[in-house]
Amino acid sequence: MADVMLPISSELWSQAKASTFKPTYMIICRQHGNEYSSTNAGLRLIEKMTKDPVFREYLKRVNVTVVPFENVDGGEFSYQLQLLQPDFINHAGRYNSMGTDIGRYGFVFDTPYRAALVRTKMWQAWLPDVLNNDHGFPQHEYNLPYGSFTPQYYIPRGIIYGYLNYMATPSRDPIPEGLAVSMAIRDEIVAQLNTQPDIMANIQDWKDRYYKFANQWDPDLYPVTYYGPPGEDIVLYWSASRVNPFSNNFTRGYPWITTMMFTTEVADETAQGAYMDMAARAHFYEDLAQLNVLRDANPNIGFMASEVSGMLYLRIFRTRPVAP
Ligand SMILES: [Zn+2]
Repeated sequence: MADVMLPISSELWSQAKASTFKPTYMIICRQHGNEYSSTNAGLRLIEKMTKDPVFREYLKRVNVTVVPFENVDGGEFSYQLQLLQPDFINHAGRYNSMGTDIGRYGFVFDTPYRAALVRTKMWQAWLPDVLNNDHGFPQHEYNLPYGSFTPQYYIPRGIIYGYLNYMATPSRDPIPEGLAVSMAIRDEIVAQLNTQPDIMANIQDWKDRYYKFANQWDPDLYPVTYYGPPGEDIVLYWSASRVNPFSNNFTRGYPWITTMMFTTEVADETAQGAYMDMAARAHFYEDLAQLNVLRDANPNIGFMASEVSGMLYLRIFRTRPVAP
């Protein structure tokens, strides 16, 4: 894990103050060990923020914390597999060494899978406003042996796509303040990806393939939602994130803390060389888009003074969500 911070000159430092004075952005990379490029993107972001003066400016407005490589066991297994078969999808590396998806163990404190505790502990420490769970998927048609075809994935429809959620009531009605954050992030993701011509060309190509071989024949089985000017090319699915106190998803469990927990997917299984660079850039720029929104938003910091029994009290607080 990596808390990306500006140098601290004082002797004491307060975690509570840090989370109160600035919104927090948290990234989880590589829940699934075979989904490589998010680790590259996360490490690149950390490097930029620690070395590049332009990127360091973000840290004056946003707390950034990154889990660069959540599922190390699966990653190692996947790495060994790609030495043998560099073009295979190597899906067995998705899970941990016990064959389990550690992402299901948010808030499960007695889990035997200790790697699964990292996200919960970091969430508890930072109370992030926006949490991005960066994933990957195969870069070509695939099916899971003994697991049937999965129409959602088996024909890729763009090098990157995302599941964007918005804060919602139990009846799925959007909560306006949360929806505003999600929509701002959606627009900024589209804007940032459009700065990368090779990524947009790839998206256009795969959009054509997906339409030709799947969507035009059975749009119910192969649905897709494109968004974004100029060409409405980027696949972004929306879902209502309803409050559920039993959920291991942070934004459903604690929406008044974490406004959004997004999932983004990049076709990086198994990415190598120049293609890996493009896949990692796709993650990097959608990460950056979320940072931009948090940086530019009004963090809604409030002050309240009161006098009780001759004592003066000053309260400093932050009302969530941020206001983009
Ligand atoms: Zn995944």
